[in-house]
Amino acid sequence: MKNQPEEIVSILRDQIANYDVRTRRDEVGSVLEIGDGIATLYGLDNALYGELLEFENGVQGMVLNLEKDSVGCVLLGSDSGLHEGSVVRRTGRSADVGVGDALIGRTVDALGAPIDGLGPIETTERRPIEREASGVLSREPVTVPLQTGILAIDAMVPIGRGQRELIIGDRETGKTSIAVDAILNQKGLDVICIYVAIGQKASTVARIRNTLDRYGALKYSIIVSATASDPASLQYIAPYAGTAMGEYFMAQGKDVLIVYDDLSKHAVAYRALSLLLHRSPGREAYPGDVFYLHSRLLERSCRLTKEYGGGSMTALPIIETLAGDVSAYIPTNVISITDGQIYLESDLFFAGQRPAVNVGLSVSRVGGAAQTRAIKKTAGTLRIDLARFRELEVFTQFSSDLDSATQETLNHGRRLLEILKQPLYHPQSVARQAVTLYISTNGLLADVPLAAVSGFVNDFCTEMENTQQETMAEIQQTGALSGTAVETIRSALEEYKKRVSKQWQA
Ligand code: ATP
Ligand code: MG
Repeated sequence: MKNQPEEIVSILRDQIANYDVRTRRDEVGSVLEIGDGIATLYGLDNALYGELLEFENGVQGMVLNLEKDSVGCVLLGSDSGLHEGSVVRRTGRSADVGVGDALIGRTVDALGAPIDGLGPIETTERRPIEREASGVLSREPVTVPLQTGILAIDAMVPIGRGQRELIIGDRETGKTSIAVDAILNQKGLDVICIYVAIGQKASTVARIRNTLDRYGALKYSIIVSATASDPASLQYIAPYAGTAMGEYFMAQGKDVLIVYDDLSKHAVAYRALSLLLHRSPGREAYPGDVFYLHSRLLERSCRLTKEYGGGSMTALPIIETLAGDVSAYIPTNVISITDGQIYLESDLFFAGQRPAVNVGLSVSRVGGAAQTRAIKKTAGTLRIDLARFRELEVFTQFSSDLDSATQETLNHGRRLLEILKQPLYHPQSVARQAVTLYISTNGLLADVPLAAVSGFVNDFCTEMENTQQETMAEIQQTGALSGTAVETIRSALEEYKKRVSKQWQA
């Protein structure tokens, strides 16, 4: 009984000493101003850049501005029900997204929530959407090819696993189609494909999903969609969220192909957010850090060394240009960040040369080391021949009598352009590409009428697949063109020509 007051005092002392005053005051703030998907908040003194906040209506926000007396944040959802004075709470974690194998085959929004009506997604872990890119020591040079199945690209601008290759061109020049074809071609190759739609029409995304489904590519693909009607904040984080999902697979040693369709709209979404946050506008009204916006995104695609898992992430960012102007702000930025670009031209597209790859302006800076040998060998002179053809074509446009050497170069060039035409959703195997390139670059199509070239090559490759299975399988597996394979192709071609040449005369 005597000890009691002392005991009470000691307990009180203990509680006072350990009383943490800060927790409550710091975790909760209130809205000063809200509108256009942006909120200015008061009272979140310890908030961190990129931290997730939770508003009283359950919507989340992400901190983007840290000022002296206030915090600026973007809302990752609707602002309905929120007003001045609404309560906002810190979550203590940075913006993240659920990742895991369960995402494969699904369509999700920028926060990783399913939007395909196929039920909830059981992800196994969460990853921050923004992460520092892998360092120099954990990277390996690009040496393994990533076949797109598009002859013009695999032959002249080869892409390797871990490379960043830009697809750039005006509206409606087939940019998305190239990316989709590349995804279709990964069937059975153990590559996980992520298609990130930024500011696209919802109908376009639905169409792409259907296409992937129809050709059996959805089984290894993820679609991350922030459509044009979604808030700018979701369009802004979508590519980072997609990359975080890719990094999960990369860390397990898997190969990933990620498409950002497109980064022009991503930059526009970021510009909208920045202007609303009162950041000062710079060139073309983009904020000063718009270069960093894309560089920190694309730097995350690379090939890791064995010690770091050995996975890779290949990025195909897409940029839309206005009237072919590649020297505008965003295009030049992304061109300088990536390892090369595939330049698509409206003129070629409308002239029927599809895919409309401009060979002169397209380049792959690292993919050459990764190119399949059979294709590298046979495509050797393709670029130069085409360049020579284009030059001659301009000069000889209005002349009538040409010497035979000029005539020959022109005929050769026209046939090369014919074989580079490729319909949608028809990716070609390595063996097919090698055969096509071999017979065309060696001038073996000179006697085939120009109008028949495309069909002839196609039918001949199919014939080879049916009758010379061994040779085709050998080229496909070894990725090389042996002496005997060349013999087989030559003799098969001669025979095939004899059979079909009657049709040409008719
Ligand atoms: P946007 O600027 O609207 O995003 P885009 O550059 O992504 O357009 P796509 O949507 O890929 O272009 O293609 C535009 C049109 O061209 C589509 O209707 C498509 O069917 C057609 N197309 C694309 N590539 C080919 C091809 N190789 N052969 C035939 N048609 C093609
Ligand atoms: Mg497109």
